[in-house]
Amino acid sequence: MSVLQVEAAIECEGCGAHFRVKVETGGNIPRGWDMMDVVKNAVRGGHTITPKGQVVDLAASCSVQDDKMLCPKCTRETDAENTEEDEDEQDS
Ligand SMILES: [Zn+2]
Repeated sequence: MSVLQVEAAIECEGCGAHFRVKVETGGNIPRGWDMMDVVKNAVRGGHTITPKGQVVDLAASCSVQDDKMLCPKCTRETDAENTEEDEDEQDS
């Protein structure tokens, strides 16, 4: 039996919100990875899915930052903070 894909429901480690990702399980999983490694890798991939299973575009992308799995909202907030730190002055 081959399992090609599973859906994972994730609790954001920033705010506790729930979001979903599709986890590809077909073939390319590095030896030694456990379930959490595979799921975290899927979250790092950034594509959330709706409750109906549709893949959402990058506007709703999740991420892994500081080893925490973050929902789209926390991803945007963290990205914004990082951008502010990197660029002290912006023209526009
Ligand atoms: Zn969150």
